[in-house]
Amino acid sequence: MAKILFILFIFLLTSKVSSQEYVKIHTKAIVVDMHNDAIERHLRGQSIEIRSKRGHVDLFRLRDGGLDISFFALWPDIRKYQPDNMFNQTVRMLDSLTDIISRNSDRVNLIENPDDIEIALKNDKIAIGIGIEDGAALEGNLEKLEYFYKRGVRYITLTWNYSNEIATSSRDEICAVAANFGGLTEFGIQVIHRMNELGMMIDVSHSGIETFCDVIKTSSKPVIASHSGVYTICPHHRNLNDNQIRKLAQNGGVLFINFSPIFLKKVFGKTYARARKMADAIEDSIKAGIYNKPFDRPAFIHSHIDPIYPGVKDVVDHIEYVIHLVGDDYVGLGSDYDGIPLTPAGLSDISKMPNITKELIRRGYKQKAIEKILGGNFIRVFKTVCDTVTAQ
Ligand SMILES: [Zn+2]
Repeated sequence: MAKILFILFIFLLTSKVSSQEYVKIHTKAIVVDMHNDAIERHLRGQSIEIRSKRGHVDLFRLRDGGLDISFFALWPDIRKYQPDNMFNQTVRMLDSLTDIISRNSDRVNLIENPDDIEIALKNDKIAIGIGIEDGAALEGNLEKLEYFYKRGVRYITLTWNYSNEIATSSRDEICAVAANFGGLTEFGIQVIHRMNELGMMIDVSHSGIETFCDVIKTSSKPVIASHSGVYTICPHHRNLNDNQIRKLAQNGGVLFINFSPIFLKKVFGKTYARARKMADAIEDSIKAGIYNKPFDRPAFIHSHIDPIYPGVKDVVDHIEYVIHLVGDDYVGLGSDYDGIPLTPAGLSDISKMPNITKELIRRGYKQKAIEKILGGNFIRVFKTVCDTVTAQ
């Protein structure tokens, strides 16, 4: 009996030490999330300035998750706005974000260059970076690029799901919408050169493969994929194949892993789509009076997806794949929180970020590697991109 109690005591002691270890490593590391869509939710009336249980990101939960740097994406949904209104809509989102930063200057700092990160860390503030998700916001005009740079935007996702004045998207390239043309346009090449000169990160998430290859050839600076995953694990057009990941690493860039269950696990995406289709069919038959039993749509969908639901482990599988393929210098975190309808188990919102660190430790990763994945790799790219002296 005494022996059993002793073993139990040792077990509790070691599990406590390991939980302290992951908290310690996570707290010490510079933790960066490269992509969230919280501003879109904020503008829909769900404030990110108060602690909330809605959505995935607010200023309080960023702190709970040990975030040091968080990039907020301005995403003007091109399905809602006319092409000549994309700039104005993006400015509206930018105004809202910069107002939030000003109103909360006691807890957050805008980052425009690597020095701002140092200042934020020194003052125990969360550093907020700004990205634009969809180069259609430029409306084909380089002066608008300059405008956004001056207002603090530090990355642009060249396309969203639809091709634009800059390039073809991943969705269009696989759907053969861009059968006659793929890659960067003449204007797109000018955008890449100017972003290199100004010191802005070029984001190839949502870009098609042709665009990706053109960008790698054209850019004199490392490029990022702010919220994508590994195609080999989950063959979705939003993910990067092995060849792309190798090219990204050779370029010195970083793939920031997206948390969307649909991009994490192939079988999940298919099952989820099928379950929603079946639910639609049942609802249609209820409307038509053919079927008259009570129907709980969420419960129905969950009954199909819960057995295969992805978790923290799946996110770390994507991270680990990149590490095995090209090393630990080229991967990071790009949650896409508030832009994804579902989240992995154990990562229900930004406050759960330490669970990634816990899983990395469980797999035997050492502090040095973990620090690179959580934020060090971003810092390297940001410093290189902001060093405009060598950009010519
Ligand atoms: Zn996106």
